[in-house]
Amino acid sequence: MVNYFKKIFSSSKPIVIAGPCSAESEKQVLATAHELKKHSNLIFRAGIWKPRTRPNSFEGIGVEGLDWLKKVKDETGLKTTVEVAKAKHVELAIKHDVDMLWVGARTTGNPFAIQEIADALKNTDITVLIKNPINPELNLWIGAIERLQDAGVYNIAAIHRGFFAYKNSKYRNIPQWQLALDLKRKFPDLPMICDPSHISGNSNLIMEIAQKAMDMSYDGLMIETHIDPKNALSDKEQQITPLELDEILNNLIVRNFDTDDKEFKATLKQLRIQIDDLDIELLDVLKRRMQLVEKIGHHKKENKVTILQNNRWIEMLKIRTKYGKENGLSEHFIQQLLKAIHQESIDKQNNVMNN
Ligand code: PEP
Ligand code: MN
Repeated sequence: MVNYFKKIFSSSKPIVIAGPCSAESEKQVLATAHELKKHSNLIFRAGIWKPRTRPNSFEGIGVEGLDWLKKVKDETGLKTTVEVAKAKHVELAIKHDVDMLWVGARTTGNPFAIQEIADALKNTDITVLIKNPINPELNLWIGAIERLQDAGVYNIAAIHRGFFAYKNSKYRNIPQWQLALDLKRKFPDLPMICDPSHISGNSNLIMEIAQKAMDMSYDGLMIETHIDPKNALSDKEQQITPLELDEILNNLIVRNFDTDDKEFKATLKQLRIQIDDLDIELLDVLKRRMQLVEKIGHHKKENKVTILQNNRWIEMLKIRTKYGKENGLSEHFIQQLLKAIHQESIDKQNNVMNN
């Protein structure tokens, strides 16, 4: 497998993809595009085939919308992109001169659909943006990229649009930034675009998420933009006007990935040395903790006592969480950490008991 991606975006950061969730009418599409065109380098998006979770919602205008996108290109000079979910969509979009395709979250999770799209893309040179799958399964995202690469498509970028979660959250789709960073670790040259609209589900949170993406060195943003969001036929809570997009882009702080400033570099190096030392210390402490756990395992085995003692675990979690919070650590972090340590301790004791 070649881990190589063509440089598909030449413009400076961030690449911005904006336009309505759905193309609804020629008037809406063109009005939105004309408002957006003052941003050079902007890529105009509009969904014309909309995979909706439930039936009886607006499922897109269909192929007619491709003519409107062509008009956008002709009248504004903006490049265009559209969502594809099957081979026929690929064929029609290319025929109508769309510049880039994107694969939606519901499609990335379906290897048959991805393979069909990959086959339809053979011998084409079009750029494809791949959204993360709805469920937080990194391999589905990687798999979709690999299927396209196997078909000879290297003009690929990833779009991080967040993941479905049952738990209550302020986000429509929780970001799970770590998953996107894991994808970046696997494909270091893969351009990464953040979609704050589908992460937030709420126009008020777009700025915050967009800034976070910039701070994490994302290459670009896909933001749903509608000339009249209140009356949008899909995703109306998360769409913003072209004017609001202007404001966000003007306020966005795009920091440099690196700098030549010697003093900055020296300070950073100093701080990193301290972090490296602390990490080693942390690991040493964990090693000593696990040695004690093994001792306890032997002790329990000899006395025929179970590994998990729920009361002790609940009590520990409570006391450590309180202590951690008093020391400026977030409850979520402490509990994640303690649960991971506890699980490893159980596994170690299991080994002792059963081997
Ligand atoms: C969209 O971009 O309008 C869309 C349907 O997104 P997702 O696939 O991320 O839900
Ligand atoms: Mn949408």
